[in-house]
Amino acid sequence: MPIYEYQCTNCGERFELLQRFDDPPVAVCKHCHGKAKRVISLANFHLKGSGWYATDYKNKDREKKEKKEEKESKKGD
Ligand SMILES: [Zn+2]
Repeated sequence: MPIYEYQCTNCGERFELLQRFDDPPVAVCKHCHGKAKRVISLANFHLKGSGWYATDYKNKDREKKEKKEEKESKKGD
């Protein structure tokens, strides 16, 4: 389950909440019981999302191309 960051619209308190993807993006502030809104933490997302996905995608793409070329060269035999 991902951890979401919330900020209270009433007192401004920030806190983290473990939620499922399909949970509504609202929470109750632990301090004032006001309405808290989900804060999309781009810094967090970037750290987790960058790197492996990009390299994995590139590697798969290259693998596909190499396999295709292999097949085509064998066909010509
Ligand atoms: Zn609050």
